[in-house]
Amino acid sequence: MEEDIVIVGAGMAGLTTALGLHRLGLRSLVVEASDGLRTTGFAFMTWTNAWLALDVVCISDSLRQQHNQLFGLQTTSKVIFQGHPTAERQFNATGTQRGHEIRCVQRRTLLEILANEFPSGTIRYSSKVVLIEESGYLKLVHLSDGSILKAKVLIGCDGVISAVAKWLGFKKAAFVGRSATGGSVYYEHGHGFEPKYFRYNAEGVRSGVIACDDKSIYWFFTFSSSSKNEEMEESPAKMKQFALGKLGNIPDNVRAVIEKTELDNIILSPLRFRPPWEILLGNMSKTNVCVARDAFQPMTPDIGHVGCSALEDGIVLARCLGEALRDKQGMGSEEEYKRIEMGLRGYAKERRWRAFELISTAYTVGYIQQSNGRVLNFLRDRVLATFLARLPLKMAS
Ligand SMILES: Cc1cc2nc3c(=O)[nH]c(=O)nc-3n(C[C@H](O)[C@H](O)[C@H](O)COP(=O)(O)OP(=O)(O)OC[C@H]3O[C@@H](n4cnc5c(N)ncnc54)[C@H](O)[C@@H]3O)c2cc1C
Repeated sequence: MEEDIVIVGAGMAGLTTALGLHRLGLRSLVVEASDGLRTTGFAFMTWTNAWLALDVVCISDSLRQQHNQLFGLQTTSKVIFQGHPTAERQFNATGTQRGHEIRCVQRRTLLEILANEFPSGTIRYSSKVVLIEESGYLKLVHLSDGSILKAKVLIGCDGVISAVAKWLGFKKAAFVGRSATGGSVYYEHGHGFEPKYFRYNAEGVRSGVIACDDKSIYWFFTFSSSSKNEEMEESPAKMKQFALGKLGNIPDNVRAVIEKTELDNIILSPLRFRPPWEILLGNMSKTNVCVARDAFQPMTPDIGHVGCSALEDGIVLARCLGEALRDKQGMGSEEEYKRIEMGLRGYAKERRWRAFELISTAYTVGYIQQSNGRVLNFLRDRVLATFLARLPLKMAS
């Protein structure tokens, strides 16, 4: 089968790219290894940059209706301040020209809204990419069911263990020595939390509790670990007890959220990233192939911009490719191949430094926030507390 644009992976990056292209009148085929949308997982922070991207692909209104706006961030430290706030940041939703727009969006809701925007047949499930080959100007994309797609453009949005990134020469993403867990809880009669992002620092761990809407609460917990915690991976009950034990004297309502989380609603993942120098030196695009978001820049979640940058990547990539394919002359020729190559190079040029900035900042912040030494604790809780509270907003500008 011949397809103009093949996108590998129906996650946030893949679907946003496909929708961006669809809005420009360009058809793409999204191939996804799973037999349906992978809607497991919970929620993620969306800052102003994410809302601008969602506006561009015209799905922001329906998401806004389903998620409450957050008006502040409060950081509390168990270490130096014995459970008292170290930093308080108002989001000033209406103060600036546009104001900050911050919400905690449920992953499932976003993926379903994205997927519902496409004509049927855009996403092909149970289609794992197992091999990529070249044939003239086309890429041959071999799927696990034995079929082969001939693609004029191949886009890898296939997550942390990416077949397309491997083809481009990237190494496997590295384990950073930390893991993350989290869950969500639904309160039939409302949870009663303020619309704020509450963060907690303790010895070597960090946690957050955020309201998605009036009834749903999302929490996360990250911790340092030299191994990949196979024991806790198999026992969410142990994971829950570990988190509660480490967090110590957190407020009762926060403790109750973690306690109330059902065990099959807790996921533990080792955190991985690509070192910043690989981001600068690696092939983000080569000929008519490129990668986006986790396939290119797996990063730690410490500044809460993982999902937002998937949306950013998607719209920039769609725009660059749209410009390259606007001119219909010489279709299938070397001229078109060159235009595609230039378009993808333009996308890589625009995104590479942004990726570098996000990965480096997130890694450094994670290191400081999860520190467990007297000097770093002092720096985090006394010197850098206000700066760290402001940073996610700065990264969204
Ligand atoms: C199941 C799941 C749950 C998550 N839960 C959370 C969460 O609760 N909070 C949070 O902040 N982030 C979560 N994330 C991470 C977050 O969604 C991503 O880090 C981020 O949005 C980047 O998205 P992405 O599209 O680059 O990658 P992903 O969202 O990882 O999507 C990649 C997609 O590619 C598919 N794929 C991989 N290899 C192939 C192949 N060879 N052929 C075809 N398809 C392939 C995968 O099945 C997957 O659907 C989760 C990710 C996943 C996959």
